[in-house]
Amino acid sequence: MKKIASERIEKLFLLASEALKSGDAGAAKRYASSMKRISEHYKIRLPRRIKVSVCSGCGVPLIPGINCTVRAVQSKSYISYKCLACGSENHIRYKPLPARKTTKTRRS
Ligand SMILES: [Zn+2]
Repeated sequence: MKKIASERIEKLFLLASEALKSGDAGAAKRYASSMKRISEHYKIRLPRRIKVSVCSGCGVPLIPGINCTVRAVQSKSYISYKCLACGSENHIRYKPLPARKTTKTRRS
């Protein structure tokens, strides 16, 4: 049963992003909210990939270039997804790369 539910979630996410790309924000929101409802009902976690790309404020899937801006904050090592509809930000932490030793290369 959980497998079917997670398949349904994947499909709804796809539908939501397609609806958003075609400019139907209302449908996208509906798909996303039913996606969330399914995950709550069957007590399954949304895959990380989906969870990070749904706005925490208004619940619309975030697609860079369409309804969100993506910014990397290097000093705090997170990536910020800012929703253009409601202005809330999702922060996704990432592991900073180990500091590389800078070796001066001189051309002769
Ligand atoms: Zn939003």
